[in-house]
Amino acid sequence: MTELTLPTYADVEAAAARLAGHAHRTPVLRSRTADAALQASLYFKCENLQRMGAFKFRGAFNALSRFSADQRRAGVLAFSSGNHAQAIALSARELGMPAVIVMPADAPAAKLQATRGYGAEVITYDRYSEDRDAISRRIAAERGMTLIPPFDHADVITGQGTAAKELFDEVGPLDVLLVCLGGGGLLAGSALAARALSPDCRVYGVEPEAGNDGQQSLRRGEVVHIAPPRTIADGAQTQHLGQLTFGIIRRDVNDILTVNDAQLVESMRFYAERMKLVVEPTGALSLAGAHHGGLSLKGLRVGVIISGGNVDLPRYAQLLSQGV
Ligand SMILES: *Cc1c(COP(=O)(O)O)cnc(C)c1O
Repeated sequence: MTELTLPTYADVEAAAARLAGHAHRTPVLRSRTADAALQASLYFKCENLQRMGAFKFRGAFNALSRFSADQRRAGVLAFSSGNHAQAIALSARELGMPAVIVMPADAPAAKLQATRGYGAEVITYDRYSEDRDAISRRIAAERGMTLIPPFDHADVITGQGTAAKELFDEVGPLDVLLVCLGGGGLLAGSALAARALSPDCRVYGVEPEAGNDGQQSLRRGEVVHIAPPRTIADGAQTQHLGQLTFGIIRRDVNDILTVNDAQLVESMRFYAERMKLVVEPTGALSLAGAHHGGLSLKGLRVGVIISGGNVDLPRYAQLLSQGV
């Protein structure tokens, strides 16, 4: 087996320097109501207020900033129907390079529109009859484009880690850090920052109960693949962790917790009502994990990363009013 070279905290620092002046330094909010409910001191890092509405701008911009002149000329290719697509499209526009995003033809119109709105060329495929990987490989080869995956890439991981770095820089050491988990880019990057800036901080990933591949992977000591999970947390419908993200997570993360969809809605409602924040279902994983993940947080300083806020408004209204 070949040894993987895992990125380090020094790479997170380098990413932070590249992102300066491009990514927002998002606010850290407090809530007395949340503190009282959990008898803890909570620090909410608001990546729902990041550019394009999620932390994914950090990893995408960092990765694209490192392209050579030749790579920039040919541009970037990504396949995604979610926040990664918009993050790549916006970063490419900002860096003046072409971008192709491969998306299923039946992706929500709002997402196709948003991605085109950032100037990317969207190429659609039929998700039932066509092979996304083959299409992407063909386009990448024909146009000489560089493929950037959504989580299993060193520059993506270290870019995502800059959010937690900013949190620790602002509030100092924490006892616990809770991070939303899909393929593990955000969790792995956050863990690198925590180990360097707050070595005693316990770091937890929170994923949907229906898609607990991360938890299974930690237990088994190898990456476990699952069928596409049914959950409202569409940003966490990943079927497996990456090799790099798992390498960091197994070394630096304490455990992975799970929550169900009703608990996500409860946290989304709390954010709307009490903190005036629009948070997408996946972005609510971390707070739901604080309430329902089985941790005892009494008296502790707890970081909660809110990963994103992109949700169709009719869907949002329906979830808040009627639940799941
Ligand atoms: C992508 C995404 C996640 C999961 O991130 P990973 O790096 O894949 O673990 C969580 N929340 C939101 C809002 C996302 O867009």
